[in-house]
Amino acid sequence: MPTVETVQGPVQAHELGLTLAHEHVRFRDEAVAAEWPDRYDEQAELDAAREAVGAAKQHGVQTIVDATAMFGGRDVRFMRRVAEDTGVRIVACTGIYSYDYLPHYFANRDIDAMADHFIADIQRGIQGTDVKAAFLKCAADAAGVTENVEKIHRAVARASVQTGTPIMAHSMPAVATGPRQVEIFREEGVDMARVQIAHCGDTDDLGYIEGLIDGGVYVGLDRYGLEMYLPIDKRNATAAELIRRGHSERLMISQDFCATIDWFPPEAAPVFESSGAIRNWSMTLVFEEVVPALREMGAMDDQVFNTVFVENTARWLTA
Ligand SMILES: [Zn+2]
Repeated sequence: MPTVETVQGPVQAHELGLTLAHEHVRFRDEAVAAEWPDRYDEQAELDAAREAVGAAKQHGVQTIVDATAMFGGRDVRFMRRVAEDTGVRIVACTGIYSYDYLPHYFANRDIDAMADHFIADIQRGIQGTDVKAAFLKCAADAAGVTENVEKIHRAVARASVQTGTPIMAHSMPAVATGPRQVEIFREEGVDMARVQIAHCGDTDDLGYIEGLIDGGVYVGLDRYGLEMYLPIDKRNATAAELIRRGHSERLMISQDFCATIDWFPPEAAPVFESSGAIRNWSMTLVFEEVVPALREMGAMDDQVFNTVFVENTARWLTA
């Protein structure tokens, strides 16, 4: 029976249950937080994380895949606290979330040295704990697959090949990063059945998304509520059509919600809401609006729901 590492220790894959495939219990820059800790309210962060995860639990969520890597302020002790307080399992990752920048530390070390850091998180534990990474994370965004981004992708790929650990790659459909990301993984010999290209739902270009699915990877329709990239109706139309075309076993539906995020000053939050850039962004939106809409459209029945929200993540994490 395959097991999956969580911040509370390994569990059998079938125990993961109803799973959100891409969320963040906290997102902040670890360097800023280390240098100016008084700018952060750890108790408020913890309260917000408990509230978000607790609300998801009310919808039956048993496991949350937390995609926070280096530069997102990954903190597995914080994750474990949230998991223990809510009774919801959290699955942690290793990797680097950068759109280009690399610290001198990694710029002056080679791909294999970088991969070795990820492998240590997978095999020994993260940040001096016994919490092990269950998947690898990398990112490509508006800048495309730059030299540094490619280096991170190759390091993630080599760690995956050496350890059998799955990969989640943040992508940006607007500049079509996905095909190049898949190509790099293929060049490095990664098992495509272990690869998830996140944020594909930011486009409604079905040809683009199906092109990735045809390459054997999972695609994330995982930013529900982030209207500035694509509104919910268009996201739903895309999801429904992909399901109708028989791709339900390749879809991850989630929200990429951050219980707290330090990217903007506090006064910016109401503006995002009032301008419509985000709408009902939370860890429950998919259950409150998306699943009912997909059922209404005839695209989702209980079986498809189970495939998308239970089986797909377990299969990606263990196949
Ligand atoms: Zn994310």
